[in-house]
Amino acid sequence: MSQSEEVSMASGSTNRFFASLWTCLLAGSLLLVNCILVRVEAAKGDANPSVKPGDDFYGYANGEWLAHVSLPAGQHTYDNRIMMAEKTRDRVRELIQESAAAHVPSGSVAQKVGDYYASFTNEADIEAKGFAPLTDEMGRISAIANRSTLSAYLGTTLIREVDGLTANSDHVFGVWVNQGFEDADHNLPHLWQGGLGLTESGRYLDSSPQAVELRVKYQAHVAAVLRLAGLADSDTRATSTVRLETSIARAFAPDSDAADVFKQNNPWKRGDFDRKAPGIDWDAYFQSAGLAKLSSFLVWQPSAVIGVSALVGSEDIEAWKDYLRFHLIEHYAQVLPKAVRTEGSNFYGEILSGGAEAPDRVDEAIDATNGALGEAVGQLYTERYFSGDAKRRAQAMARDLVTAYRGRIANLTWMSPSTREKALAKLAALEIDVGYPDTWIDYSTLKIVPNDAFGNMKRAEGFYHERDLAKLNQPVNPVEWPLNVQVPGAVIMFSPNAEFFSAAILQPPYFDAEGDSASNYGSAGAGMAHEITHSFDELGNIYDARGRLRMWWSDEDRSRFHREAEKLAVQLDGYCPFADLCLKGKQVLGESVADLAGLLVAHDAYVLSLKGKADVVIDGFTGEQRFFRAFAQRWRRVQNETALRKQITTDTHPPGEYRSDTVRNIDAWYKAFKVAPSDKLYLKPDARVRVW
Ligand SMILES: [Zn+2]
Repeated sequence: MSQSEEVSMASGSTNRFFASLWTCLLAGSLLLVNCILVRVEAAKGDANPSVKPGDDFYGYANGEWLAHVSLPAGQHTYDNRIMMAEKTRDRVRELIQESAAAHVPSGSVAQKVGDYYASFTNEADIEAKGFAPLTDEMGRISAIANRSTLSAYLGTTLIREVDGLTANSDHVFGVWVNQGFEDADHNLPHLWQGGLGLTESGRYLDSSPQAVELRVKYQAHVAAVLRLAGLADSDTRATSTVRLETSIARAFAPDSDAADVFKQNNPWKRGDFDRKAPGIDWDAYFQSAGLAKLSSFLVWQPSAVIGVSALVGSEDIEAWKDYLRFHLIEHYAQVLPKAVRTEGSNFYGEILSGGAEAPDRVDEAIDATNGALGEAVGQLYTERYFSGDAKRRAQAMARDLVTAYRGRIANLTWMSPSTREKALAKLAALEIDVGYPDTWIDYSTLKIVPNDAFGNMKRAEGFYHERDLAKLNQPVNPVEWPLNVQVPGAVIMFSPNAEFFSAAILQPPYFDAEGDSASNYGSAGAGMAHEITHSFDELGNIYDARGRLRMWWSDEDRSRFHREAEKLAVQLDGYCPFADLCLKGKQVLGESVADLAGLLVAHDAYVLSLKGKADVVIDGFTGEQRFFRAFAQRWRRVQNETALRKQITTDTHPPGEYRSDTVRNIDAWYKAFKVAPSDKLYLKPDARVRVW
């Protein structure tokens, strides 16, 4: 899944699916929360009232903040998102460590979280066990004697991938259970390519000196890992392992295919595997993978399935066994002796990623605990930091946003009447979840114990695998959360047709559950509406109301949309932060249209939330003023010149100042701040762009 700049996973990616039921959004207005007018001091204090809003709205709203925030050492950028991520990470660390230290009831969520973390940080115990935890599985690899037993073993390595964009480096195929591309009624196994330690096929096939050098270092790393595990002839084994991976790399689908979801829509019947991809004993494979009874699959990269299967038929079985031994150790490296972890961080951290410092064990343990018990940590997080009232308030805002959207879509001129109908149906079906799930994952059958880091990790993997297999027999669940609520982010799932905004993204300065409503709508509301827009723009227009892959715009809609959007591109082209560098309107157009739509819709929603009453004045600022000021504050950011230039040349999101300048297109902003034709940001009414 992908994360957009201001929220997170989704915007950039069309690699998703979709479908949906429709529930909470239209659930009535009982939960609407009145404006509680407190906590506006910080927002006011960040502004610089000596700047004229009509001349420099970003500077007006953020002047004090910009004057007093400096770049943390070693960072090139600092903004709200980074600040929220740091703050949330500290909170999560504290919660996990408290759970580890507390005497909590056995079997409780806190016990599992605490013991997972504690076992992970018990390095003496991990060291004492050495490679013993791998003995059984190493034995199974050694027992591989022919293509059938090799196929059966490979089947046991088919474990879950979190989503469609994760490169799985440890096993040849990954599986994700989700509805079909064209079937919103059934969950299907989606199979992905994988199994490359260097993750990208180009790193094996590129003939540049850098790539050649990387492969030499990788082979040395493979040899070192095998040697640490006590295997003789590690250099020979490493040579054949890298050779096998290079053959797998040749079967990988081209990187360019990843952006085209239609290329991934390859339904295969069970019999297709035998017919199209000979080599693997597919009966043995699917039997041990737990998928023997299934008849329908979605194969994202057929070339990889065909190619890997052929290699199972053609390559030396001993080479496969060394490959499997190496990846088994790599997969569990974090819960194996320190020598293996150090070897891994040297190679992957320094050589592959260019990072310098070895990872901190506590950080690794926090990440691992979040990874294995994400919704357990999420329960602890929301109990302390995101109440039921906060959720109800965010839900009320989401409902207002949807109502506002309905009005916008109904009046769109660039959509034909039949397209508008489809858009309204898709909006009605859109599931928007905020804060945290109504139903958490039930971890009661997952046993987590102190002093068994390896066992805990393995049992957690097995728990999710069983859960995935069970899902294959269950109806599609459009409200299954694809991200942890303790991560500041949002996810658009085009399939199912759903969007998720985590508790951690719904915190100040974006959203204050006990704070000023106008500011919440201007900041978090505009951000949520931005993401909702993507379900209806050129990212979402290939997925229908139930998340099926189906284009619902006509060619005429598209050309009318582009005619409207072009005006915004021209406006953006005119922003030149450096004498030699201006924004490229086309490059940032999709995100800027979403910013514009987000702001228009959030403002409509804010007005709706007042139910015809006037908002109160706080510290001399009207609700309208606080709404727009919060929007401009959403985008504040300090960054050095190199980072700013890089953003302008490569990013699909404009720099914060120009996102803030979206206000120039909104009539209400002119009224709120009495912006006059003589002001620098003034646009004549007919030069203001709408699109939505
Ligand atoms: Zn976006």
